[in-house]
Amino acid sequence: MNKKLIKNKKTQKNRKIKDIFNKISYFFEKFLYPDDIKCIFCGKDIPNFYEKPYCNSCEKSVTFNKNHTCKICALPIKNEAQVCDFCQTQKRYFKKAFIPFLYQGKIRESVLSFKFDNRRYLAKGFAVEMAKLLKCENFDFITFVPMTLNKLKERGFNQAEKLANELSNILHIPCFETLKKNIETKEQKNLTYMKRSKNLENAFTIINKDLVENKKILLVDDIVTTCATVNACACKLSKYTNNIYVSAIARNEYHEN
Ligand SMILES: [Zn+2]
Ligand SMILES: [Zn+2]
Repeated sequence: MNKKLIKNKKTQKNRKIKDIFNKISYFFEKFLYPDDIKCIFCGKDIPNFYEKPYCNSCEKSVTFNKNHTCKICALPIKNEAQVCDFCQTQKRYFKKAFIPFLYQGKIRESVLSFKFDNRRYLAKGFAVEMAKLLKCENFDFITFVPMTLNKLKERGFNQAEKLANELSNILHIPCFETLKKNIETKEQKNLTYMKRSKNLENAFTIINKDLVENKKILLVDDIVTTCATVNACACKLSKYTNNIYVSAIARNEYHEN
C-alpha cells in the first residue's frame, strides 16, 4: 500500500472518530444545557427565551446591528447614504439582508463556539433574534449556504443548515436544500471581494430547480462579511427566481484592502 493510501485511510478513521465524538458531546450538551432557558452568551437562566434569548447584563454589552445600515446588505453606514459603496459597485443577486448582530465581542465569541466547539444548541437563540427581523416577510421557503461533503464530515454539521432549520421551526416556513457545494474554496478571510467571487464562481450548483422557480426565498448563512458567498449562492438561485433575501447571525464590518 502506498503512503498516500495509508494517509487517506488514517484521515477517514480520524474523521469517523471525530464524528462519533461530536455526536456524544452534542448529546451531553443537550442534557446539561437545555437550549431554550439559558442566555446564549453566559448560560445564566432567563425567563423568556423566545422573546429575548440573553440575560439583561449580556444585553448591555452585545453589539446589535441597529444603527443606519445599507438597505441591501445591512452593512453599517457612517454617512447618510441608503446603499453602501460595495452594493453600488457590485451586482447583488439578493434584494435585502436581515442581520441582527455585528460580528464583535460576545457575538463573535459565541458564533465561533457554535461553529468550532460543536455548540449546536446556540443556533436556537441566534434564530430567535434573526426571526424578529423576518416576521413581516412571507417567504415560500428557507434555504441555506451548503458545505462540501468533506467539510461537513470534518465539522459534523453545517451551521447555516442548523440555523435555517431553527428559523423554519420558529417562523413555520419549510426549509429545503437547494444548493450543493462541489469544491472547497480557498480560505476566504484575507481575500478581497473580487478574489473571493472568482474563488466561488464554480463552487455551487443548484439541485432543486423546480422548487425554486418563481418563489420568494430566504437564504441563510452564519456570518456575512463581503457578501461574496451569499451573492454566489443567490446568483445560482437567481436563474429561476428574482425574489431572494438573505439572513445571517452577524454582519462583519469589512474594508476592501
Ligand atoms: Zn448572559
Ligand atoms: Zn450594501
